[in-house]
Amino acid sequence: MSEPPATLAHPAVMNRPPELSFAGMCTMCGNKGTFSGVRSPSRESFPCPSCRATLRYREQAGAILSVFSHGRSHFLDHFRHQPECQRLAILEAAIRGPFIRRFKDVPGYVRSYYFEDAVPGETRDGVICQDLERMTFADASFDLIITSDVMEHVFDVDAVIAETARVLRPGGAHIFSVPMVFPLRPGSTARARRGPGGVEHLAEPRYHRSGLDEPSLVVTDFGADLAARHAERGLRARFHRSMPLTAVLNGNAVVVARRPLQ
Ligand SMILES: [Zn+2]
Repeated sequence: MSEPPATLAHPAVMNRPPELSFAGMCTMCGNKGTFSGVRSPSRESFPCPSCRATLRYREQAGAILSVFSHGRSHFLDHFRHQPECQRLAILEAAIRGPFIRRFKDVPGYVRSYYFEDAVPGETRDGVICQDLERMTFADASFDLIITSDVMEHVFDVDAVIAETARVLRPGGAHIFSVPMVFPLRPGSTARARRGPGGVEHLAEPRYHRSGLDEPSLVVTDFGADLAARHAERGLRARFHRSMPLTAVLNGNAVVVARRPLQ
């Protein structure tokens, strides 16, 4: 009987979290290969070996393709050159992330961010200052709104949903990622709220890194009620699942909230 490989018995290796991997194609760059994840939470891992996009961004790219490519593109770096992408009016509320360089050559692509010291509507380094609860854009301005891990940080989720419903064109979609625990809790939980004296914490404060690399308070832990809250404001929301196995494991939700054609 042969000895097991020495590395298996090494304590440093034994203590490492188990590595998961799966074969697939990157919905961002089209690379075919093996995607591995060891970090927790795993939605931030499983990077594409070619473009480095993490799982949650790739799931979001898959959702964008599912709505807008009509089955003609299987990855975003193909789709972005197609006429059906080039004619989209896109709002992305982001200061960084893998969609920026992909959509920057789409004529109707604009980016927004909430700069606390800027006037809404003012542009800074090509990024428009916007409060998602009260956007300055006209009704029916966009086909696609992209937010990635933003919705859990806003204080008035229903105001943001109402505003996305207002600025989306008929048939348009807000496609967003949020962390979510599966199985889904029935209701969302507020971790903080705005009070007369400032932020009131209702749970142990939890922070993520903002686009400007500052701590950003998590305001809401979302549950299955997210779909009904969109329906109340005229948007049909569904969870997008491009990778069933890992979607269960990774605590990630990509939501497609679509304004009906009429
Ligand atoms: Zn890739």
